[in-house]
Amino acid sequence: MRSPGEKVFLIFFFPTVIGFYLIYKYPLWFVAADEVESSFYWLGKSTSFWYNTVYSGLVCFISARVILSNKTPYGKNKQAPLSSYQKKKFTSIFFAQLIFFYLIPFYLPYLFNDKNFFQDTYAPLNKNAYVYVYNGFTSLSGFLYVFIVVPISVWFLGKRYCSWFCACGNLAEAIGVTKLGNKWVTQHTPRGQTSLKLEKLQYAFLVFAIFFGLLLFFDTWKIVTAPNLVQSVREVQDFAVDLMFGALIGVGAYPLLGTRIWCRYGCPLAGGMRLFGKFSKSRFKVVANKGCKGLNLCSTQCPMGIDVASYAHENKVPTQGSFGLQNSPCIGCGGCVDICPVKALSFQKVLNPTP
Ligand code: SF4
Ligand code: SF4
Repeated sequence: MRSPGEKVFLIFFFPTVIGFYLIYKYPLWFVAADEVESSFYWLGKSTSFWYNTVYSGLVCFISARVILSNKTPYGKNKQAPLSSYQKKKFTSIFFAQLIFFYLIPFYLPYLFNDKNFFQDTYAPLNKNAYVYVYNGFTSLSGFLYVFIVVPISVWFLGKRYCSWFCACGNLAEAIGVTKLGNKWVTQHTPRGQTSLKLEKLQYAFLVFAIFFGLLLFFDTWKIVTAPNLVQSVREVQDFAVDLMFGALIGVGAYPLLGTRIWCRYGCPLAGGMRLFGKFSKSRFKVVANKGCKGLNLCSTQCPMGIDVASYAHENKVPTQGSFGLQNSPCIGCGGCVDICPVKALSFQKVLNPTP
């Protein structure tokens, strides 16, 4: 049940997120090109700059608050101390967001100057607080990020990359520990087998991103040029993937579908990571011990819709099961571990993984 205050909030939340996103991404939808600067630039800074300022500000503010409070952000017992795992996670989120997704893009912008994509005059250079796979084919920074940074971090940290580092994941983690955001996670995250099966949709986004990236790459370097095809695919990417799925559903629908909807069904990087992660050096799993009391708090806290409790107990009898990257989309956020009042769950390293 949503309270009246929450309903009022929701009425404003969706249009605000979308309105802000549209101005940032498509200012030409609102005013003519020569008016963009006078209409949307503030203190001489682009829409892109302000979008990322609000985005990163929110992530850093919430993360800093969690770290400084030194109290767990999960569950009802807010007086319990912050675990060292969560302290490390929110510290990583704070610095990753501030340095990699804010300071570097705006203070070393030439690194993000996409040869083919970011040459517009209204939103120069860095357009995104997130990186899609296709950027890896079209810019130096995208290449370094997608093909070097992400694989290295997945190799050493497993899919914790998604809860410790990624800009989209940073927002999801930060919002997910606010009072309202946690309600969205626990009450509105789609769960069950069907929603897990639907995650295969990610591979379609991955194939599309690689196709689009290669197309841009061949076009940029004049190996094969097909301007009409590039334009059409770009429109599909911009409208269907970026706007409709990435922003509208991926962030705008947090209150309706939980905070990880994009991560579960849309993110092409996650699709790649899932494949690559099976071979990585540092895989981890969530392990249940004999202490489980069948409270099911872990399942309700999981933003990825995993039925964590089914590994920990059957009819409230502990089963001491475990799961990891090989059989689940777990991102290692640690919410399930931290919310458990009887400490029935913990992370364990998977040694010598055999793919
Ligand atoms: S699933 Fe994709 S968008 Fe979500 S945190 Fe992971 S890499 Fe980022
Ligand atoms: S299973 Fe636990 S650690 Fe993994 S994503 Fe869900 S809540 Fe986070």
